[in-house]
Amino acid sequence: MSHEDFAAALPPPVRGSPAVYVAKEDQSEEDKQWMREALLMAEEAFEALEVPVGSVFVRHGKIIAKGRNRTNELMNATRHAELEAIDEILAKYPPKSEHFALDPHNCSDNPFKDTTLYVTVEPCIMCGSALRQVGIGRVVFGAGNERFGGNGSVLGCHDDPALISSPPYEAVGGYYREEAIMLLRRFYLTENSNAPNPRNKAKRVLKTEVQPPGVSMHGLSLAHRAHTPEHASAKSK
Ligand SMILES: [Zn+2]
Repeated sequence: MSHEDFAAALPPPVRGSPAVYVAKEDQSEEDKQWMREALLMAEEAFEALEVPVGSVFVRHGKIIAKGRNRTNELMNATRHAELEAIDEILAKYPPKSEHFALDPHNCSDNPFKDTTLYVTVEPCIMCGSALRQVGIGRVVFGAGNERFGGNGSVLGCHDDPALISSPPYEAVGGYYREEAIMLLRRFYLTENSNAPNPRNKAKRVLKTEVQPPGVSMHGLSLAHRAHTPEHASAKSK
């Protein structure tokens, strides 16, 4: 099965538009500059033994918040980089509008309006939806998140017309995608080596081949094998 066939075989999101990837030559210098800052946050998460995902929120040419995963530290699965940064922004720039909590989209002092989120991995369904609730201006991500992605890989929370109370936002991916994927791979490789019963050494090789967008970041073979009967039987042993 070729890469193209495999990408075509992936199911489209159940709701909303599929993830959009911008070709490298069409990516603006400004977007790339901010994504490099998000990558630094992902590196920080890596050093702190957290799943290496980093984010920065940029408004009017300035970073107003940085976030990284803190799920292990806080033992809280909702502490993703994006939600960490949302809390920080609301603490730093509290909106004065009376109706902000219920109707952030119609408040002129909404700090998320005119704000772009740069995040190294596509926001998950939880974060993708939260970003729409608070009224984010735009989202730029690195790697797609084919397991949990809320910007079109699993669900298109950014523009699903069923969410009538929040306007859609633009979400584009593919920015330093390879770097984001390699950080995740390095993390999971280290994690496996530190496990009490590490998997056999042959599997502890850092894969450097990166599949085209739309194909599992874990590689064609692994994703393909997950759907084959022999993998299912091996897993159940
Ligand atoms: Zn998330």
